Formats: sequence, C-alpha cells, structure tokens
Amino acid sequence: MRFASRASRVAASATLEVMRTAAALRASGVDVLDLGPGEPDFPTPEFVKEAAVRAIGANFTRYTDAVGTLELRSAIAERYRREWKAPWGPGDVVVTNGGKQALHTAILALFEEGDDVLIPVPYWVSFPEMVTLSGARPVFAPTSQANGFRLTAADVEAAATPATRGILVNSPTNPSGAVIEPAEIEKIVRLCAARGWMFLFDECYDRFVFEGTHLSAAALAAEFPETVVLAGTFSKTYAMTGWRVGYACAARPVAEMIGRLVGHATSNVCSVTQAAALEALRRPDESAKAIETMLAEYRRRRAFLIPALNELPGFRCTPPGGTFYAFPDVSAWYGKTVGGVAVTDSNSFAKALLDGAAVAVTPGAAFGEDRCVRISFATSLERLEEALKRLRGLLA
Ligand code: PLP
Repeated sequence: MRFASRASRVAASATLEVMRTAAALRASGVDVLDLGPGEPDFPTPEFVKEAAVRAIGANFTRYTDAVGTLELRSAIAERYRREWKAPWGPGDVVVTNGGKQALHTAILALFEEGDDVLIPVPYWVSFPEMVTLSGARPVFAPTSQANGFRLTAADVEAAATPATRGILVNSPTNPSGAVIEPAEIEKIVRLCAARGWMFLFDECYDRFVFEGTHLSAAALAAEFPETVVLAGTFSKTYAMTGWRVGYACAARPVAEMIGRLVGHATSNVCSVTQAAALEALRRPDESAKAIETMLAEYRRRRAFLIPALNELPGFRCTPPGGTFYAFPDVSAWYGKTVGGVAVTDSNSFAKALLDGAAVAVTPGAAFGEDRCVRISFATSLERLEEALKRLRGLLA
C-alpha cells in the first residue's frame, strides 16, 4: 500500500497499544492488573446520564450547529468568565469530540510546514504526532526531573528556535502529574505574546489537583487574547470519556477557523452527548459533589501508592501534584534482568512487569522520558494493593 507521507510520519498511540496488549492477555484468561488506563474508573454521574435519556426521549437527535449548541457554548463560556474572568462568549467556543479534537484542530488551524512548535518533555503522547500531522516540526523542551518535571519559562526560552510559532502546554501534566507554577504559566504566556507565538493550553485534568495551585490560561486570555487558546474536556472531570465531548476557547478569529475545520471534518458532537454535558454545567452543585467524590478517592489511592512505589527496589517517585498518574523513575533497573527479561529501557521494563507479574504500566518512552514508567491510579485501591504485592514479589 502507498500511504501519504503525512500519515506515514505518525506513530501509533503507545498508550492505546498497552491497553490492547493487556486486553489480549486478559482475553486469554490472565488476571491482568491494568495500570495503563488514562480514564476515570467511575461511572458518569446519574443526573448527567438522565439528561441524555431525556434528550433522546425528546428527539433531540438531529444535527446541531457544527460548533455545538448555543446553550452548551454559552455555558462553557460562562464557566470560564465566572471562574477565571475570561473574555470569551459563545462565539469564541467550539464544542469538539473530546479535548483531543480541540487540540488537533487548533494545531491544524495554526501551524504548518516551516513552523516549529515547542513541546515540553515529558509530553502527552499525541502532542508530537498532532504537530507532525499539521506539517510543522515538534521541538522538544526538556523539563527538570529535579523540579518534578514542572515546566518553567527558562525551559521554554532554552528550547526556542527562530522558527518557533507556538507551544503546547498541559497542566496538570499527563504523564508526570506536574502542576506548573502559576507564576511560570504567566511568564510563559507573556513570553509567547512578546514573541508572537501561540500558547495552546490543555487543562484536561484541571479538577484533579492534590498539591499546588492550578492556574488556567483562561485567566490570561483577557490580557493576551490573541495568544491564548484553551482546550478542555468533560472526559475526566465528569467521567465521560466515551461520550466524546470537549471544547476549544480562543479569540473569535481562531475559534471561527477551528469551527470551520470541524464543520468539514466531523460536524457537531453527538447531540445527546451535548445535552448531557450541558446538564453537568447547569448543575454545578451536583457536579462539584461528583468531582469531590472522585478526587477524594484519587487522593486516598495516591496516599497509598506513592510511598509504596518508593519502597520498591529501584523505584523513585515524586508525588504527583495532580492528574491520576504516578511517574516513577525506574532506570536503576536498566542493565539488569527482571523475571528472565533483560531490561534496557522503559519498554523492556514494562514488558518484564507484564510477563512476570501481569501488571500493565505504560513505558515512559511513549512520553519522551525513557527513565520512567506511568502508573495510573484510576483503578481501585484493592487492585492497586494487589499490583504492588505482585511487583514486590517480582522485584524482590
Ligand atoms: N490531553 C491530555 C493531556 C490527555 O491525557 C487526554 C486524554 O487522555 C486528552 C487531552 C484528551 O482527552 P479527551 O479527548 O477524552 O477529552
């Protein structure tokens, strides 16, 4: 087969790969403890599901405006106005198939051949591939492990090239759990504005913060309207990964261009999903309760998991400030043999854990940081305890 070079340059998603391998093992009868997933292990709140059922009953099942219903875009804009004094109105919001489509489409709208786009390392797997698909070149900005992989303005300055046109920043950060210091976010946005770069901010984990303070780039959008593009999602906040709903917020010309592309690519997000998302925003008290329930459980698991990981031989884990991921450095194992597998990097280490203990973790190489593996704690405390027991057995 002949494929377009655009497609051939893109790698398969490594995190989906782990889910698939673990699923195949499970199908063959093995009790795999899957610490790979990047999605909440909670059900969507009842009141959100009920809104979807009502929408179907009311035959709210047709095309909507390609950029989302006015009601939903208004509710999203209103949330950011209320929480962060953002200047956006419904015309500055595009409802998308998850935060993923918001980012992908914003990148397609803004970057092209000849442009460099900065990506802090470790990064979410899709960032470099999305940039590559646009024709632009991903340029990596390493962050300091000693600083908990928290991006600083100095990291950004150090990576800048003459062709830089923008940066993709994610905080709280997948995979490291780093929550970037508010002062640094502000400095980076100022730097971008001064250089004429776009600041694309992915805050898909904004509600999952354990330590430190999350600053939304929305707070800087009034001062730097032409610089800030924000991507958010209902996936993690409301445990709605399968519903596929997120959004982009940006200055009107940017939002309109994103909307134009969405209109030709997918059109609107499922109408029923939009009705459910609207309900989540219209009932902030119930939503806050549902989010707090999840956050409290993640906090409980984190309190168990991080010390337990640090007690494993050859593991070093900085407590994540946010998200539901731990990102331990396991490089002390490289050059050794684990359960018969020669470990040389994060891929072989992950394979050794899967083969030797039926514990699935995601190799850090997928995120550009080969010293580490990502361990999701979006799984029950009982399963985490069992996983740690198996790891202790394997690594003893
Ligand atoms: N951004 C980050 C950092 C993520 O981890 C994810 C999902 O894992 C997304 C964006 C996109 O999620 P969704 O498309 O479900 O909103």
